[in-house]
Amino acid sequence: MRLLIMGPQGVGKGTQAAKLAEHYGIPTISTGDIFRFNIKNKTELGLEALKFIDKGELVPDELTNRIVEDRLGQDDAKNGWILDGYPRNASQVEALDGILAKLGTPLSAVVALDADHDVLMERMKKRAEIEGRSDDTPEAIAKRLDVYAKETAPLLDTYEQRGLLVKIDGVGDIDAIQANIVSALDAR
Ligand code: AMP
Repeated sequence: MRLLIMGPQGVGKGTQAAKLAEHYGIPTISTGDIFRFNIKNKTELGLEALKFIDKGELVPDELTNRIVEDRLGQDDAKNGWILDGYPRNASQVEALDGILAKLGTPLSAVVALDADHDVLMERMKKRAEIEGRSDDTPEAIAKRLDVYAKETAPLLDTYEQRGLLVKIDGVGDIDAIQANIVSALDAR
């Protein structure tokens, strides 16, 4: 199973990705988590990424694509994976197409979670209080939502045209949402 999990910030992608990973016995690969790990460990990559992340901007494609290519080539990714937070723009879709063609491993499906704007803002505010992420300032949150609407949301049409999109309502009980995702994937 090779999945993308997509949707706006605050929709619960990370939570659902972790559950799907457990269900299918495959790793979750989150570009945001990889960046945060590198920032915490003050690596060169982390220092470069931080300049963009704290403003709510996308880290340059070249850097991001390279990280994903490296990660998908690792041993634990051989039997499948869930990509969370990538691709985020049209050029990353193209890069991912190239990476997967090289590996000979096409996508199984793209899970798109959705929720209305007020629910998302409320969840983001709560997460900011709990996690204290450096990019959870009001300005960075607004910028991230703007980038999502302009650059990432249109990608759902791309995957819909390819017949890969599985749309799921991201509002409600976490386990019920998970069950909806699994039954939609199993029905494909
Ligand atoms: P996330 O945890 O997915 O919300 O990602 C946090 C931040 O990391 C984003 O706001 C971006 O600055 C950066 N980031 C994560 N994934 C990507 C990506 N695919 N392309 C560019 N920047 C990314």
